[in-house]
Amino acid sequence: MMKVKDKEFTLFISAEELGERIAHIAKDISKDYEGKKPLVLGVLNGAFMFISDLMKEVDIPLQLSFIKISSYQAMNSTGKVKELIGVSEEIKGREVIVVEDIVDTGVSMTHLLESISEKEPASISVVSLLLKPEALKKPVTVDYIGFEIPDKFVVGYGLDYDGFGRNLKEIYQLK
Ligand code: 5GP
Ligand code: MG
Repeated sequence: MMKVKDKEFTLFISAEELGERIAHIAKDISKDYEGKKPLVLGVLNGAFMFISDLMKEVDIPLQLSFIKISSYQAMNSTGKVKELIGVSEEIKGREVIVVEDIVDTGVSMTHLLESISEKEPASISVVSLLLKPEALKKPVTVDYIGFEIPDKFVVGYGLDYDGFGRNLKEIYQLK
C-alpha cells in the first residue's frame, strides 16, 4: 500500500520488472536504428525516469532532447494539449523517436506527432512505457510498448498524481 496525497495505491509493476522490460526495448531500438543516428525526443515531465533508464541501455550513437506538453489535471485528461517547451533541434530529414510515459486517450501523442510531422522528419516512431488500449480515443501506433495496462490510474516511476509520486521506483495502481 502506498499513499500519495489523499489517495491509496497498490504495487502494480516492480522495479525489477521495469528494468527487465526496459532493457529489452533498448535492445530492439539499438538493433532497429543501427547506423541511423536517431534524434530521441523525450516527453516531459512524466517520462523523465523512463527516458533516463532506457537511454542508458541503448548503445548506438544518438541525440537526445526534451519536449514538454501538458494535458492532465489531477486525474483527468483535459482533452487539450499545451506545448510548454517546443522542439529546438532541426527535425527535417531526421529519424525521430518519441519517448512517452503513457498513451491513454492518445490525444497528446496525436497532437505531438502532427506537430513533428510538419517539420518533415525522415521517420517517426513512438516508444511508450505504458499503453491503456481500452482508453484510446485516437488511433495511435505505438512501435515499442513496455506494458499494456487496464484503464486505471497509475502513479510512480515518473508519473504523478497532482504533482506527487514521480520519485517512486515502482508503478502503483489506484486502489
Ligand atoms: P492522453 O493524451 O493519451 O490521454 O494522455 C497522455 C498523458 O496523460 C500522459 O503522458 C500522462 O502524462 C497522462 N496520463 C494518462 N494516464 C495516466 C495515468 O494513469 N496516470 C498518470 N499519472 N498520468 C496519466
Ligand atoms: Mg506524459
